[in-house]
Amino acid sequence: MYSVYENHENGGLFIDNNYEPKTCSQCGDIDRFIGNFDNYKQLIEHLADEDGWTGYNEEYLEGIFEDAENETTI
Ligand SMILES: [Zn+2]
Repeated sequence: MYSVYENHENGGLFIDNNYEPKTCSQCGDIDRFIGNFDNYKQLIEHLADEDGWTGYNEEYLEGIFEDAENETTI
């Protein structure tokens, strides 16, 4: 299970299972929690609108999970 967040400042996604919210020094917002997923296909299902568009390209989303798998043992 991977915890996915949206970076408040650049809109990118990242996985961090030990995430502690960091408040933005500019506006006080925090990164947005997207959800917990086992793999990028689940994330795509979660993000997709009725046309199947997630707002991100599939390779990008897959890459986030590959990075997380390389860094952690869960
Ligand atoms: Zn901000």
